[in-house]
Amino acid sequence: MKEINFDRILMIPGPTMVSSTVLSTMAYPIIGHRTKDYGNILEDTVEKMKRVFRTKGDVFTITGSGTAAMDMAITNTVDKGDKVLVIANGNFGERFSKIAEVYGANIIMLENEWGDNAKPQDVKKILEENPDIKVVTIVHNETSTGVANPIKEIGEIVKEYNALYIVDTVSSLGGDYVDVDKFNIDICVTGSQKCLAAPPGISAISISEKAWEVINSTKSKSFYLDIKAYKKRYESKKETPYTPSVSLTYALSKALDRVLEEGLENRVKRHKRLAKATIAGLEAMGIELFAKEWARSITVTSAKYPEGIVDSEFRGILSNKYNISIAGGQGQVSGKIFRVGHMGEAREYHVLGTLGAIEMAFNELGYNAEGGVNAAMDVLKL
Ligand code: PLP
Repeated sequence: MKEINFDRILMIPGPTMVSSTVLSTMAYPIIGHRTKDYGNILEDTVEKMKRVFRTKGDVFTITGSGTAAMDMAITNTVDKGDKVLVIANGNFGERFSKIAEVYGANIIMLENEWGDNAKPQDVKKILEENPDIKVVTIVHNETSTGVANPIKEIGEIVKEYNALYIVDTVSSLGGDYVDVDKFNIDICVTGSQKCLAAPPGISAISISEKAWEVINSTKSKSFYLDIKAYKKRYESKKETPYTPSVSLTYALSKALDRVLEEGLENRVKRHKRLAKATIAGLEAMGIELFAKEWARSITVTSAKYPEGIVDSEFRGILSNKYNISIAGGQGQVSGKIFRVGHMGEAREYHVLGTLGAIEMAFNELGYNAEGGVNAAMDVLKL
């Protein structure tokens, strides 16, 4: 393997830093996946995942990243010609439409300007006009823009109609407040490598009773992602249908222990605090935030570059000189914004260090920034 600087602070919005207790489980010996021992680990992981999702429904883990779980949600519920309402205000919202398109869905897009969030009344209007919508998709935390969508309020609306409610919580579960059953979510998908702070490569999906009714009357278009096969194997033997990543199951299990030990409410509080400090720091430096005030995520903060600052130069200084990785923009905001992830294992010192490095990088590039760290400390002192 080529020499890599492993000592960087990872402040991108996923994958996030993984604690050494979780990482070390990846070195445990591999065991057979059709053994009682593995079945016990899988069952324990699934039960913990249910507590984190806050659901009494079924939960499965998938060897594959968050997109595999998104794909599984769609392929098992959408037949050719089915009407799907895709609520999108960023890259990952749009991903649902790309997946639904593969399966020949009749897609209705409800798009909001990037940086703003979805409006429940717009969802209601479309559902009223289209009583035959089968599935509604939304991303809770739109990582590409640093926006949080009102999934609870939209869930209350979708419940009044016949449609299934599919929610992506890839960059919110374990960081922001999610309650699958209370929010009337029929299918919730998440990934390991964001707020759950496990390595990338394993994802999870929750399925409500209403979702099973739809799944049972939908033809699965995928072999690997056929959820009925997952259910059959899990219920009969506590196994997955195909060979799982045994090491990632260990790691996810340990990461979920950490999430549950800290407590879901405490984690939301920590993420809110870090978001507040990051925002205060950037605003003190005179940086304009990208997400509208009412729409801001608590796990990732997006901000506009001041005039004249070049993304690659700025992030190059942060990475090469100060050993801190943050993300740039994607799609239509590529080169225009940067994003600081403060999720998973992120703590106060990571945020303060990142803001200090951001301040120094801006000054090096000729943008006069000051007071960011002090402003963040003022928030963190409280
Ligand atoms: N959904 C959201 C909100 C994400 O942030 C991501 C990844 O960044 C994905 C889906 C896709 O997940 P993955 O890259 O794990 O396939």
